[in-house]
Amino acid sequence: MIEKKRALNFLEQIIEEDLANGLNPDKLRFRFPPEPNGYLHIGHAASICLNFGLGLTYDAPVNLRFDDTNPVKEEQEYVDAIKEDIKWLGFEWDKELYSSDYFQQLYDWAVLLIQKGKAYVDDQSSEEMARQKGTPTRPGENSPFRDRSVEENLDLFERMKNGEFDEGTHVLRAKIDMASPNMLMRDPLMYRILKKSHHRTGETWKIYPMYDWTHGESDYIEQISHSLCTLEFKHHRELYDWFLDQVYSGDDLRPKQREFARRNLSYTVMSKRKLLQLVEEGLVAGWDDPRMPTISGLRRRGYTPTSIRNFSEAAGIAKRDNVTDLALLEFHIRNELNKTAPRVMAVLDPVKVVITNYPDGREEQLLAENNPEDPDAGSRSIPFSREIYIERNDFREVANKKFFRLKLGHEVRLKNAYIIKANDVVKDESGKILEIHCTYDEDSKSGSGSEASMRKVKGTIHWVSIAHALKAEVRLYDRLFTHEAPDADKEKDFKEYINPESLQVIQDAYLEPSLEKVKPADHFQFQRLGYFNVDDDSRPGALVFNRTVALRDSWARMEQKK
Ligand code: ATP
Ligand code: MG
Repeated sequence: MIEKKRALNFLEQIIEEDLANGLNPDKLRFRFPPEPNGYLHIGHAASICLNFGLGLTYDAPVNLRFDDTNPVKEEQEYVDAIKEDIKWLGFEWDKELYSSDYFQQLYDWAVLLIQKGKAYVDDQSSEEMARQKGTPTRPGENSPFRDRSVEENLDLFERMKNGEFDEGTHVLRAKIDMASPNMLMRDPLMYRILKKSHHRTGETWKIYPMYDWTHGESDYIEQISHSLCTLEFKHHRELYDWFLDQVYSGDDLRPKQREFARRNLSYTVMSKRKLLQLVEEGLVAGWDDPRMPTISGLRRRGYTPTSIRNFSEAAGIAKRDNVTDLALLEFHIRNELNKTAPRVMAVLDPVKVVITNYPDGREEQLLAENNPEDPDAGSRSIPFSREIYIERNDFREVANKKFFRLKLGHEVRLKNAYIIKANDVVKDESGKILEIHCTYDEDSKSGSGSEASMRKVKGTIHWVSIAHALKAEVRLYDRLFTHEAPDADKEKDFKEYINPESLQVIQDAYLEPSLEKVKPADHFQFQRLGYFNVDDDSRPGALVFNRTVALRDSWARMEQKK
């Protein structure tokens, strides 16, 4: 019996029951079976965390099995990316395997089924077969080829394999029951002819096995004890079991398929087909665009493996379909970065402040704490001088009592520095503010212990010294879709809901000079603004930052106001 901090989920309960009923714990074995036809996304992370998590809990091996039976859509690029993402998430697979490794074994078993009268070659078109399929309430009709002799079937199947027939002319079907209430049991396809080169087997095969025929048999070959898949495969379980019945020896382990609900996330789409569309139509910059729900996109956005694993654990494994709120994912990265990300100052929309009573040419180094949440994070020094930038929206000429930032005739504290008072503004002809003239209280330095330094002023704002600031590009990302469920309405194209403001690029943001030597993937809190990380495009002298997440959930507040 395993011990967990939380209650066992229903799949763990099934495993516990199996163990209680005599399953040898050494026989436990799991697999994660991606099709290499796209990049992994946050939904796959649920399945990865589930399967590899069970492996850790039960000290059982977990295979990485590429489900590569459709050469039309599969590529080595995807295989490589999938492996990188799983490793990055922090998991280790036992064996790296491919369904295509089993093509010969599957073929041999298919021959066995033909010999037992359990499979036949059908020469009809897919349209003709569809017409005979019936409906859930009306039985289907038998194919005119259903009662072909074993010899004829063996001959045709071999010729299919040898490439003698064109695509679409013949298929191999399991001979089950055209009246079954489960439509999937109505003589499902086992093989189709595809004259396509495969990313691993090249030109060897002219026929390729279908998912249902491949998956359970691959589980059997690998002796997977629990084959966990998403709910849409529930009706496939009967077929999974039927196919296993045909080859099961009776004395080794018989795999068991069990289903759980897919992970859906609000404000995004998760189907690989749709994600591929976004990439191919140039609506995003690639699979790892920081707005994508892919693991590589989240990584580039600044998400960490721990935040994704914690999110997966918190969202849990459900029996029924549901939608997880994007805010939960954001909560987990915010929570982690709050503890780990160094605080720095950056100004994204600068306006110049001149401190008129600060001597021209003087500069001083001020001490700043790196992370108040982490006493071991230490401190750094930041330069202060007569001319600084602050955020344009941190200043107003006149404002009401609730505005605690800088306004004419009033004081504000500069973070880690002095209290300043705004006296005057310089504007251009259009009325735009070019400079704010302030005076500072020289006894008010933060941390100096003086009476003036203890003086309470309502607001604190961030700033950077103009002469010392680094210029950088900052990419502000927002959710990719404006609709909570962009693909729920089948009548509408999900792309209509793309958020036109999902990316705002700031070319001239100013950062404190301590950031000069940052490397891609470094994380920071830009104080009062949010969490940011260094993008892969960043170079020394041409820094690029991504906003991972804002400090607070502004969408939740907007929804509340509605
Ligand atoms: P898509 O429909 O996006 O192409 P898929 O299910 O075909 O996804 P696979 O590569 O076959 O993608 O998935 C590998 C494994 O991950 C499968 O076991 C699948 O059930 C699981 N998986 C895929 N999407 C999700 C999801 N949204 N939530 C949980 N598990 C998922
Ligand atoms: Mg699939």
